[in-house]
Formats: sequence, C-alpha cells, structure tokens
Amino acid sequence: MGYGYTGKILHVDLGSRKTEVEDKNDAFYRTYLGGRGIGYQYLLKKVPPGIDPFAPENVLVLATGVMTGAPVAASCRFAAVGKSPLTGTAGESEAAGFFGPELKKAGFDAIVLQGRSESPVYLWLTDGKAEIKDAAHFSDLGAREVEDTIRKEMGSDKIRVAQTGLAGMNRVRFANITNNLSNFNGRNGLGALMGSKNIRAVAALGKKKIRFHDQEFLRQAAQTYAKTFRDNPLGDALYVYGTTIFAELLSAAGALPVDNFRRSKLDDTAPVSGDTYNKLLLKKRKGCHACPVRCKRGIALTDPKYGVDSRYGGPEYETIAALGSNLNITDLKAIAKGNEICNRYCMDTISAGMTIAFACECFENGIITKEDTGGLELRSGNPDLMIRLLEMIARREGFGDLLAEGTSHLAVKWGVENKPYNLSVKGQELPMHDPRVKVSVGIGYAISTYGADHMTASHDNYFTEEGTFPFQSVMPLGIYKPMHPTDITTEKVRSYVVLENLWRVMDALGLCVFGYAPRGVMTLDVMLQCLNAVTGWNASLFELIKAAERGTMMARAFNSREGFNIKHDRLPQRLFDPKPDGPNAGKKVFASADFNNAVRIYYEMIGCDAETGRPYRGKLLELGLEWVEELLSG
Ligand code: SF4
Repeated sequence: MGYGYTGKILHVDLGSRKTEVEDKNDAFYRTYLGGRGIGYQYLLKKVPPGIDPFAPENVLVLATGVMTGAPVAASCRFAAVGKSPLTGTAGESEAAGFFGPELKKAGFDAIVLQGRSESPVYLWLTDGKAEIKDAAHFSDLGAREVEDTIRKEMGSDKIRVAQTGLAGMNRVRFANITNNLSNFNGRNGLGALMGSKNIRAVAALGKKKIRFHDQEFLRQAAQTYAKTFRDNPLGDALYVYGTTIFAELLSAAGALPVDNFRRSKLDDTAPVSGDTYNKLLLKKRKGCHACPVRCKRGIALTDPKYGVDSRYGGPEYETIAALGSNLNITDLKAIAKGNEICNRYCMDTISAGMTIAFACECFENGIITKEDTGGLELRSGNPDLMIRLLEMIARREGFGDLLAEGTSHLAVKWGVENKPYNLSVKGQELPMHDPRVKVSVGIGYAISTYGADHMTASHDNYFTEEGTFPFQSVMPLGIYKPMHPTDITTEKVRSYVVLENLWRVMDALGLCVFGYAPRGVMTLDVMLQCLNAVTGWNASLFELIKAAERGTMMARAFNSREGFNIKHDRLPQRLFDPKPDGPNAGKKVFASADFNNAVRIYYEMIGCDAETGRPYRGKLLELGLEWVEELLSG
C-alpha cells in the first residue's frame, strides 16, 4: 500500500448481496488519480452499451481522490459516477463535506455498486469490512431522520452518511446524493440511480488512519493556509459571505438568471444580497473536512411559515437563483424553505427550480393548461407554489410526477424541444450563470460530457487583468494574455481547454476548487507540493493534466458509444438572443455560427472526432488508453 490511499476498491453486487475487494497499486493511482478517473474506468468496462440508466447493469461508483482526507484545506471531495438517468450520458458529480475522508478511513478508496437489491438496504462500512443492512423501515423518512437512525443503529454519532432520499427512491431524475445533510453530488440525477438500485444510504465509520508521506509538510501548509487565506480578497469573501454574495455581483454584471433567463438582473438586489442573508439567516459559518474557509452556511429561521431545520444548512448562490430570481422570487426566507425541502428529499435545487420555471413558461404559452397541472395556476413569482411543487415532485404526487422527469423529458413530451424556453443541454438544466457575460461558461454548457454545468472550468471573469492573482496563477499553464469575458476566439477556446483540464485534475484528486488557484488562494505549486507530501510521488503538473485527460477521454468514449456527438453540443436558442438588460442591453453578444465554430475547434484541440464524438486513436494511444481503443473498435 502506498500513501494517501488504501489500495482497496469495494465491489458490491446488490442483487446477490456479494461483496468483493479489489487491490490496486501505485501505478493505478498515478494513471487515474481517483474520483472521476476511477469512476469512468468502471463505467466503461462494466456497463453494456445502450442500457436504460435504471437497469441493474448500470453502475454507481463512489470514488475518492488520492488527496481526499489529507489534513490540508479543501481536500474532502469524492465523485459519484454512473450512466445518468437525467442525461443518458456518462454522469458525474463531485461532493465536498466529510463522507469522502470517512470512506477512506473506513478502508476503501472507492465503492462500485451494481445490480439491484430486492428490498431497500443500506451499506455499512467500517474497519475494511462491508455489510448490507435492511433499510425498509426508512421508507418515508427525511434525510435527517435516516442519518440519525443509522447512527443510532450502529452506535456512533461519528458515522458519516451519503444517502439519497425519497426523491431518489422515487426515481426523480434530478435526485441527488447528500452527505452531512448539506453537501451534494448534486447534478446528473445520480441519486435516482442510487434509488433504482434500492440502496438508500452508504454509512461509513473510519477506524483506520490514512498514511501520509510527509505529515510535517502538510501540517505546516495547513497552518500557513489557515493564517493567510483571508489576506486574499477571494478567500475573505468566501469566508464572510460563502457564495451568497454572487446574486448581487452577477446581477450587477448582467449574468443573474431572472424569469427563466428572460432577464439578467434584478432592479433591487437588496432582498437577496449577501449582507441581507447574513443578517436574516446566518447562524454560523460551516466548513468541510480540514477546511478553514468555512464557506458553507449554517442558518436559523424560526419563521411560522418558512421556519427551517438548521441541520439542512442554508441556500448557496445556485439555489438563491434557481429557487429565487429565476422564478421571480426574492424572499430569502421562502428560498431557504425551498432549499430545506430539496435537502430533506435529496433533490438538485438547480434542476428542480429550472424545471418549475420551464413548466411556468409552458403554462404562460398555453402549451399546458390547468387540465394538465391538476388545477394549479402555474405562474412564477409565487413562493408558496414553488414550495408546494417541490413537495409534489419529491413524492411524485399529481403534476409533480410529471415535473420529476425534468425539463428535457417534458420538452419532448410536450413537443417544445426546440423552443427557446427549453433551457437544458444534453438533458440537464442550465445552472445560474448567463454565458452572454462570460462566454466560456457557454462553451462549458455545450461541450460538457454530462450536460450543462458551471463547474467544468474556471469562469472568464477571473482572467481579464494581467496583474491579478488568478491570472498570474494560470500563466505556468500557458495562458499569457488576458481576455475579455465575451471574446469568442481560438485563444478563448485554447484557454478553456487548459482550464478544463485543471478543473478535472482537482476533481480527480478530490480537491475543492474554492481552495486552490485560480479560484481559491492556494497556488498550484503548493497544491503539487501537498500532493507529493501526501503520496511520496514526484508528480508534475504535466503528469496530472495527462491523468485528467484520461478521465475526459473515457467519458467521451462512453458517450460516443451511446451515440453522442457534436450535434448534442447545442446551446439553447435564448442564449443567442440580444442581451435583455444590464451591461450590453440590446446587443447580440455572440452569433451561433461563431459559437458552433468554437465548439468544433474544441473537438480538434482535444483530439476527438466531432461527427462520432469518438476520441482519436492517436489520442487514446498517447494517453496509454489502448484498452479503450480496443473496446471501441471491438
Ligand atoms: S472551500 Fe468551502 S466547499 Fe470547499 S472544502 Fe472548504 S468549506 Fe468546503
């Protein structure tokens, strides 16, 4: 066994209830790093082409990275990977919190779940052993009650639980996997995949110590970081406001989705500002494993109508916009209540809010009527309706049963697939950033292997000025010239490819991007030193970027086999319209021909055939992925 990882991967066949432990060596971890790198390897090898994502043959992989659990800031994440019930693509989603480190301390780097249990179960992991336990008695419980019950049954408050809730068991296509009640593998509906396997939760209690190569270096790096991260405005803002400050910042920039992306700013941001949030809701700043940034929000709200259970945490920016501004709602208390409901049932707030916004616009256009909605007057701007619909979706009650299918399935059902208000890409709803203000976010929405997502790469606004910390920190990667956020040039695509690879490095290592440059304040040099102190490797950034590319090429190989190609890399028509308001109001920011050209150049740069979506043979061989080439050719 090396340092930083256990070398053990647990395989669980939920149908036969058999478990098996696979041993892995250092070369494996240097090749794939962990997280999505591990996940896609099993997805591609084990899942037959063309299956329904809910078929027992699909896998759900929960995988840590080699730095997950290290005693330094922002080293807490793990990935969930499987064929996505929302998009039909290779699905992935990373979560911060505490579960990843605990999984490793319980004896495993990753778990590969396959098959389907006949009755609801949970998986209990401790001391390198796995046990499948009955979960039939969890049936109607919320996430908090499930966590408490498992802790009581297994006799420790230190147990960490990753679970899907009622929404996952009901196969709501955007159900998530929640850990610590307020950290999420939020996107791609991987909670619905978990539910389809009849596994409600994975509970871990770590009794083993993770070995680190140079503990003293890590201790000093952690101390320095804790003392200095607030000296940088990026670190300080995250501590003071978390992500809640973005509603006002993005509104000022004209990048805040309002009224289902028909507007991009609020006339008055005061009701949803970071300061209002801190005064109205904030009770305490919360963090993740070993992280002093504490950007998570602990809230208290005893309002008679919208009172919330504080264990579910407070809404972050994406939720403030998805359940708020994009639905024409600016009541933070109601948004906090909507957030609590999503967390209790384990649903992605972005997809939930966007699906409601889509249905409201369909209602407005007469595509659906009260006959379809069970008598509901489906209008945005109504907090009580938003809250009621969230409950109905999770329980698949009445009209909620339809909404639980997500925007793109409904768009096909209602015959509005090509309408501008179908704001999804490859089946996944757009997150809360208008790409008409930051173009590479739009490129990310279109080319992402797992549908529209805002976490595919760092956003354009961090690289507009030469003297800034984010810009300086990416110069060693070959980005030498500041770029305007709305440039749509070859240089922009080149920088996107570089930043996408860097983001994938952090995902695979198990790092949170808020901790590390360019978005966070720990430099890439220190990140590399910490990795080598964890593992005892002599890794270089070059080696890490190659490992990240392997993950992406495996995902692309899977998608190509499923029939995905450049035709699916579309951006919703509304985003090509002139900017509705804010800076550049009335101006068309980019033309579809220029955007499509950028996407084509992206394929050429990364080494994939645009028409088939298939990675070129030479690219796979360069990355040492001969087995993927054989799989695709076989
Ligand atoms: S920066 Fe925030 S989300 Fe990231 S690990 Fe730290 S506390 Fe968690």
